Amino acid sequence: MASSVTFRFFRRRQTGPQLQANAPTGTDTGVINANAAGETRSFESVEAGHTLEPFRVADKTESDTACSADQEIDTSWSVAELTTLKDAADTHPAIAAALASLQTLRVFVTTDGVVYHVEDPSHVRTIEDLLSLVQQQLGRALAKPISLLQFSQLRSHAVKPRHASTSQNDLVEMVLFDAIEQQASDVYIAIHLDRTVIHFRTHGVRYLHSAISHADGKEMARSLWSLARDGHFEDNVPTDTAFDFANVRVRGNAMPDTRGNSIVLRLRDPTFMPPLKELGYDVRQQRALEELQFSAGGLAIVSGETNSGKSTTLTSLMAGMSDDDMIIELADPIEIEFPHVTHMALDHYAEDAEKLFRSTLGGLVRQNPDTLFIGEVRDQQTATAAIDMALQGKRVWGTVHSHSALTTISRLEHLGIPVHVLGQPGFLNGIVNQSLVPLVCAKCARDSVANDSSEGDVVATTRLQRKYHTDNLRFHNPDGCSACVRGISGQTVVAEVMQFPREPDHPAQQCIRNHDLAGLAVCMRELGMRSKADHAITKITEGLCDPLLTEAVIGRIGTRDALPHHLRVVN
Ligand SMILES: [Zn+2]
Repeated sequence: MASSVTFRFFRRRQTGPQLQANAPTGTDTGVINANAAGETRSFESVEAGHTLEPFRVADKTESDTACSADQEIDTSWSVAELTTLKDAADTHPAIAAALASLQTLRVFVTTDGVVYHVEDPSHVRTIEDLLSLVQQQLGRALAKPISLLQFSQLRSHAVKPRHASTSQNDLVEMVLFDAIEQQASDVYIAIHLDRTVIHFRTHGVRYLHSAISHADGKEMARSLWSLARDGHFEDNVPTDTAFDFANVRVRGNAMPDTRGNSIVLRLRDPTFMPPLKELGYDVRQQRALEELQFSAGGLAIVSGETNSGKSTTLTSLMAGMSDDDMIIELADPIEIEFPHVTHMALDHYAEDAEKLFRSTLGGLVRQNPDTLFIGEVRDQQTATAAIDMALQGKRVWGTVHSHSALTTISRLEHLGIPVHVLGQPGFLNGIVNQSLVPLVCAKCARDSVANDSSEGDVVATTRLQRKYHTDNLRFHNPDGCSACVRGISGQTVVAEVMQFPREPDHPAQQCIRNHDLAGLAVCMRELGMRSKADHAITKITEGLCDPLLTEAVIGRIGTRDALPHHLRVVN
């Protein structure tokens, strides 16, 4: 093992643009430099007032902009130096007791009173309390914020090594534990030529977690892939991995990109199964969903973009069915297993995946299910299977990528379900189109715009209050509190649910057969369907959702007519 470990991390973004890394006054930031022998250690000093990286909604080029916007600092921390740090908890029972009660806090106290801690806005007070205890016990206390990586180094080298794991495994463990603690649904690891950048997505919001070296990123990828039973990370071909970590199911995909590798890990708690009524549908939508759930047969589609909660909705529907029916689920992968459902796994990486898929679909007829969950309708094959089963009077549920209920029809047509079939009475039962929008934390939400706004916070707030005709708007607080992650306490569904009449020659069916989506919109409104924007406006004016974050997910909401333009009626 090298005697000096060099790595990079991003300094947290400063509050003012004028602040520089070498500003002369202020508090330590925990930038630690040491030579290989560990003889010197100095802390660069910068001005106080650093804040958490403001979060942004996902952006394909974000990792690049995050890198250039943040200052990058070379740091090294020698193993020799690390091993000279003595743990105050070993000699001071009061400190040991305090640390034992703060298990979620990443902190290390040395015998000379240095409190190394990984910054966490929800623990500011705790650190202050700890400092006064250390001051009282050791006669000296000094807080030094460190990066997660530095903490990993500390733990694996200076603190009692708990097992023979390498620091890389420690790093993997720490990132995954952090992701679980921050309720992240996705972890993004972008390995570039000169660095590796790690982002998390929590409650739909993507934000920077940390940055490490290119080599450490590669090593981390290998460690991650080795956690799967037969996992092997490949540099230049797409690979998948799947393993369980601390009761969370992790599924990863790695793709080579022009500068390195792009890795996405999805974290799922297999016990997370909220009932339908807790997902956020309004009363009417929920009733429509229940009617679709127990319909006489036909196709029902849950559509939305990536991360719109489609599979959670299907899982909740599946959970609410009984074994009076024969239910089959086809999925790749199977996320949750139910005793009353027959689950058939499709493995799209299998060598003869195509053949296997075809024979599975062929076998469905003989299995004769009452209800079939077909997963994503992604190609002609699945579309054909969906048509066959629905025409036989089976209930078929599938998902489609689409941004509105109306465009779902065009998408189904594109996938090979002809409009004369879609418009046949009893074939298409319903379309649920949905998005997941962040819920503002009730404890720390603000009354005015929290984002930097080019038009000024007051002007922006007033404009939004006028637009939504209420003073009751709530905006997320990016600093967050102990009850939330960055001001967001969860996600809620905003949806539009189309339920098609089964009677022959209803105008809605004629509209589908005639490709008349505008006409269909009119029919649906007459039948009482609310648009997704309408649903979102209700949640915004009730103070449940931040208007800006909501618009970032579903697009700009019109001011006068709540309907998105494709649903608007021009008289
Ligand atoms: Zn909060």
